[in-house]
Amino acid sequence: MTYVFPPPKLVTLPVRGSDAAFPVHRIYCVGRNYAAHAVEMGHDPDKDPPFFFQKNPDNLLLEGLDFPYPAKTDDVHHEVELAVALGSGGDNIPTDSALGCVFGYAVSLDMTRRDLQGQMKKLGRPWEIGKAFECSAPCSELFPADQIGHPDHGAIWLKIDGEFRQQGDLNQMIWKVPEMITYLSELFTLQAGDIILTGTPSGVGPVKRGDRIHGHVDGVGDLEVAVV
Ligand code: MN
Repeated sequence: MTYVFPPPKLVTLPVRGSDAAFPVHRIYCVGRNYAAHAVEMGHDPDKDPPFFFQKNPDNLLLEGLDFPYPAKTDDVHHEVELAVALGSGGDNIPTDSALGCVFGYAVSLDMTRRDLQGQMKKLGRPWEIGKAFECSAPCSELFPADQIGHPDHGAIWLKIDGEFRQQGDLNQMIWKVPEMITYLSELFTLQAGDIILTGTPSGVGPVKRGDRIHGHVDGVGDLEVAVV
């Protein structure tokens, strides 16, 4: 096989304790999955069906790299999230066996051009310009579930320059990880390599150049990113 131009490089995430990398297929992100964040964004925290948007695999920003402040915005927000990385997939995955699809977990950021997202919400248009830009998904190395288990409670927080901005607990998720896998698998054929960003607790807010972002999930790990 030849190509008309060199194919793009496969996007991969490093895996703690392994020389083998995790090849990324798709990135699904759930919206408003912590009640207090739904309220701060002006919405009802009831358990409505979840909704998802996507980022592109090459939007991932690997640990150790800086986050470049993106173009066409004056209001970039941080959202710290637990990332779930699938090692297998399928259609119509039962909730009680869904965790069997999980390869591991990471600490991630759903960086958001909030001003552009807000304009798109008002117009009833898709969110891509607010969500799926270059480097919009900083992500730690993956921590395999066979080392850390399947965290369903524990602190999730974000600090900027050492000060708390977001604080929540994984047990505050409206849609739990197995439920999200089931829901997505009824709409899409999930595959090994798919990643799910599971939503953010309350306290989202703007970042500026020079900020040092520190995200943390108990039982998973840490992610530190500089805004440049
Ligand atoms: Mn988010």
